[in-house]
Amino acid sequence: MTRPIETDVAIIGAGPVGLFAVFELGMLRLSSVLIDALAEIGGQCTALYPEKPIYDIPAHPAIEAGTLITRLEQQIAPFAIPRLLGRQVNGLSGQSGAFLLTTDQDDAVRAKAVIIAAGAGAFGPNRPPLQGLPAFEASGAVRYYVRQREDLRGRRVVIAGGGDSAVDWALALKDIAQVAVVHRRPKFRAAPETAARLDEAAQRGEIELVIPYQLHALHGTDGLLSAVEVATMEGATRQLPADVLLPFFGLSMDLGPIAAWGLERHMHHVTVDPSTGQTSLPGVFAIGDVSTYPGKLKLILQGFSEAAVAAHAIFPIVHPDQALHFEYSTSKGVPG
Ligand code: FAD
Repeated sequence: MTRPIETDVAIIGAGPVGLFAVFELGMLRLSSVLIDALAEIGGQCTALYPEKPIYDIPAHPAIEAGTLITRLEQQIAPFAIPRLLGRQVNGLSGQSGAFLLTTDQDDAVRAKAVIIAAGAGAFGPNRPPLQGLPAFEASGAVRYYVRQREDLRGRRVVIAGGGDSAVDWALALKDIAQVAVVHRRPKFRAAPETAARLDEAAQRGEIELVIPYQLHALHGTDGLLSAVEVATMEGATRQLPADVLLPFFGLSMDLGPIAAWGLERHMHHVTVDPSTGQTSLPGVFAIGDVSTYPGKLKLILQGFSEAAVAAHAIFPIVHPDQALHFEYSTSKGVPG
């Protein structure tokens, strides 16, 4: 194990909420370290939908998810905190005031408090059970995220699924790619307005709706896709010529190693006291998508607020002999 990094607060997860926690802690002059299993900061915003506009970030009528992360990065820049990226936190020991975290890369972090901002945990897509899938995944012929829309220009794209991602991406790609959408029922679970736009695009012949079909097989060699075979419940099959398959069957929620830390949980989420963000383990806090309490909304804006609440609750753990005087940012500025 390498020499431990010493900090006030270890933040597990560098999604939007973990990033904002750095800011809220910094404003209270608390140091922090960010650790994320992914190689890039930004969590779901960077990994799943960087080019999509978000419409419910206060004071931003629309902001692309990737831009939101860039802005958060600018906001926390004054605090110049260490980031351990590409490392999954797997061990937690110690107690409030003296925790030790370890990662799968043998890093060690000593922290007085811990914030778990692990989102959907070690999140991953729900993968379709198709024979030979790994070879097509490895070549990028089957992918679960679209990092850049332009990568798919001129390609034959089959999209599978009936939720927001399937519908949004069908609409986003229809002008630059040949798009077919495979869904097992006529009704889409997407927002009504976008589902209606999908129907209109299909009527204009811009998108082919392949309904009611499910994915059945992949055809091609050496990871190079030539067709996606789909089937009805009755067993009738069709082959759709394809270069790329985008299955959008949602995210699997897997807390990974965090699930073994003995924290009280509800379903796949960590239960917290909403007035502090503290979990059942004193000194360990959970914010953002990973946490739950009555009335919880899994929204970035709610996660931002939880970051502020947790930072204030952590202050007395780090400075037990100091009173925290509440101050507006306009009064104190940003501590450098
Ligand atoms: P995440 O963004 O999930 O980040 C968590 C991070 O923790 C990840 O990077 C993960 O790698 C890391 N991690 C997990 N476990 C470990 C571990 N053991 N060790 C190290 N790292 C770990 N929200 C809105 O408010 N408005 C929207 O319009 C909106 N649109 C969305 C559209 C799509 C397509 C999707 C998928 C989501 C959307 N969301 C939206 C939801 C929003 O993205 C999430 O609420 C937000 O990302 C949660 O942020 P977070 O920081 O809590 O977690």
